[in-house]
Amino acid sequence: MDMHTGSLYKSLGFPSVAIHEANTHFDFVEPSRTILVIGPMGSGKTEYAARLWRDAEVARRKGQSIAWLTSGGGSQKELFEPEAGIGTADRRNTFFVRYSLDSARFPDYPEDALAFRGGYERCGKNIATISNSFDLEELIRDNSDVGTWILDEAAFYDERLAYLVKREAEQRGIVFVMPTLLLNFRGEIFNATARLLMETSTDIYPLSAYCEHPECLENAYNTYRYYVVDGEECPALFFDPLIIVGGDRDSNHPLEPNYCTRCDAHHYLPGKEYTYFTLKPLGQKASVGDIGPLQKELRALCDDPEKSELFRLFRANYVEGPAPSREHMNALKVPLLAERAVVYLFAEQNLLSAEQTRTLVETLDLDREYLSRRLADNKRPMNF
Ligand SMILES: [Zn+2]
Repeated sequence: MDMHTGSLYKSLGFPSVAIHEANTHFDFVEPSRTILVIGPMGSGKTEYAARLWRDAEVARRKGQSIAWLTSGGGSQKELFEPEAGIGTADRRNTFFVRYSLDSARFPDYPEDALAFRGGYERCGKNIATISNSFDLEELIRDNSDVGTWILDEAAFYDERLAYLVKREAEQRGIVFVMPTLLLNFRGEIFNATARLLMETSTDIYPLSAYCEHPECLENAYNTYRYYVVDGEECPALFFDPLIIVGGDRDSNHPLEPNYCTRCDAHHYLPGKEYTYFTLKPLGQKASVGDIGPLQKELRALCDDPEKSELFRLFRANYVEGPAPSREHMNALKVPLLAERAVVYLFAEQNLLSAEQTRTLVETLDLDREYLSRRLADNKRPMNF
């Protein structure tokens, strides 16, 4: 409320009170928008989509007489002709698109369900599961009457998606609503697609959730990855494999990550300093042929972790340092540290060749099954 209105209210005897805009219903009139709905797990991104779905049902009941408001609007002059009807995108017609790797997340719901924590909406034939931007282009072509597309987990798709939705929105006036994670467990922009979507979208709705630490009620924006080893919470190290397919359900297996939402204070991310100070330089040495120092550190991580640089740095920071932290130290209890470092250097940093990776696996007898799975997850498949 502006100052004048505020003083008027006060002069009329009303108490001073902050007035916020109420949660409004979805706007199906404004054309050509690409809307990012971002936030960590549990922040209600999919609930936002479900509410839009229900709003659309209400808007459609108004019938054809208001279709001139909710159709057209793009640069490609698609004049609305009520007689023609079919073929014109009406933003009240909505379609829900799921990302393929995500469909296993809610196994107990019907096939056509837009599921969120706490309920679901049934979408009938206006729902599909796809895996890339070419599939989406085809869907849009086959459903030319749909004017609002909900693209769940948009950042999981290829980069081309960002320009496809931009083009369709601008030319045909249609609207895309994209609930997605924006930050990975390292607190960095998820990937190149997420970065492009930030650049190309017209609106951004940031949502937050409560911190899930048992003793905290702060607003939280971070996705926290941790493992449970012997019943204890062990944070993932900074160089943990970027992508681990599966998960999202509570797991007590020390190789399966768990995720939750945490505020800055409770988002433990140990090993970032080690990654840049030690691990990556060792990888850079290996990339020019000197693999010895890296092999020595990895051997220590496998056979005698207390002899590793990683352990030495952690002891200096989290045991003997000014701010001791058992939570951070717990990161070293997670198994297969050397394997994780190899995935980081080979698949993500591109510092190890395939041949060097094979040599390390042979020499150090690394866990082949774990490596094969994680390298495939990170799109650098290799068989051992
Ligand atoms: Zn917290």
